Amino acid sequence: MSFALPPDAIAWRDKARTFVDRELIPLELEAEMNEGRIAPELRKRHERTAIDMGLTLMDVPGAQGGLALPILTQTAIVEQFGRVTNALGWCYGEAQGWMFEACNQDQIARYIMPVARGEVHLCYAITEEHAGSDPSAIATTAERHGDAYRIDGEKWHVTSYNLATHVIVQAKLKGGEHDGEHALFFCPADAPGLTVKRSPAYAHTYDHHHPILTLRDVAVPVADRIGAEGDGMGFTHSWFRRERLMIAARCSGAMARLIDETTAFAQTRVVSGEPIAQYQLIQAMLADSVVDLHAARLLTYEAAAAHDRGEDLKALHARCSVAKLFASEAAFRVADRAVQIFGGRGYMRENVAERFLREVRVDRIWEGTSEIQRLIIARSLLKRGLEGTIGSN
Ligand SMILES: Cc1cc2nc3c(=O)[nH]c(=O)nc-3n(C[C@H](O)[C@H](O)[C@H](O)COP(=O)(O)OP(=O)(O)OC[C@H]3O[C@@H](n4cnc5c(N)ncnc54)[C@H](O)[C@@H]3O)c2cc1C
Repeated sequence: MSFALPPDAIAWRDKARTFVDRELIPLELEAEMNEGRIAPELRKRHERTAIDMGLTLMDVPGAQGGLALPILTQTAIVEQFGRVTNALGWCYGEAQGWMFEACNQDQIARYIMPVARGEVHLCYAITEEHAGSDPSAIATTAERHGDAYRIDGEKWHVTSYNLATHVIVQAKLKGGEHDGEHALFFCPADAPGLTVKRSPAYAHTYDHHHPILTLRDVAVPVADRIGAEGDGMGFTHSWFRRERLMIAARCSGAMARLIDETTAFAQTRVVSGEPIAQYQLIQAMLADSVVDLHAARLLTYEAAAAHDRGEDLKALHARCSVAKLFASEAAFRVADRAVQIFGGRGYMRENVAERFLREVRVDRIWEGTSEIQRLIIARSLLKRGLEGTIGSN
């Protein structure tokens, strides 16, 4: 099997890389020293550039006016946004393919295509105080009263709520034919009854906050329920598959940047009369990082190509977990080695390795912890066997 990117994917990758390297990376330090913020006009300009490049249409079906790029091409693009710290790469909204299956035409017109145009900004509220790894345990409820649902509960770690216009809320249905089943809802970020309980500080320095939200009797029209009653968990799985794959892609981008930066440093930093790149213990760290990146990238591209080949969804679920598990753990190893190669400089916040070490740590936690990825892989192995889990190539 060949993992060579087709020429079209290479062209997209290079375009994305030029944008990241020229427009985003130079702003990292300003963001780091300013609680993650950059000038609002720059943020707007980045979003505009991404939209003009077509990035917000990459996963949109052709019938909806999108580009429907192969998933392999999309991972090669998203990988480039992993090269930059401080979430500066989160500069465009994604109208994701699963949304076009989950949403009706009215919702696509009111929410999803406006995401692609930069008019609607979404965030996702699934996790709760007592339900993280096991979202089936959520306690937030949605009870139907006529043409609306009333939503009650509390959501944790709601990433980007401070920049969002709408929240996708996962709740358990209360009463009715589907009592206890899950559903997803579009909810305006400023809906009456939706409040920020607390906005804790996290290890990274991002302008995207992760507050705890309280929902008290929040009214959501039936027209804003995504899919049918009881469809909630199925859509959450589609979205986890994509996010896990894209986390693996971003981790590969982070590793590539760290290897570039540490190689350049090691060739110029002279200790005891020699550039440290001449010392074999430094070479070993660089070599191990190259192996980590290469393996992570191949796993990610292979899982993406398996999507494009239309392989079985359940097997793809495990493949995305393999890629996410390996790439997120590898990225942390690479960032830790990079701090070591930079020496004392590597512990300064102005150093790229220090920032990445804090930032990639969460990739082993969000969208399912490393332990949960291992459980998914092991369950697939026991149910579908080895070939059914990683393919026969
Ligand atoms: C910065 C950040 C942003 C986030 N953004 C969002 C967001 O936008 N929307 C959202 O809904 N959520 C978000 N999350 C939540 C994230 O997805 C959860 O934190 C994650 O799924 C883990 O859940 P938990 O924190 O409740 O840990 P827990 O589920 O309490 O797990 C604690 C520990 O137990 C382990 N564990 C749990 N079950 C098992 C098991 N069966 N076997 C072995 N070990 C197990 C876990 O791996 C972990 O090590 C975010 C989290 C962070 C940190």
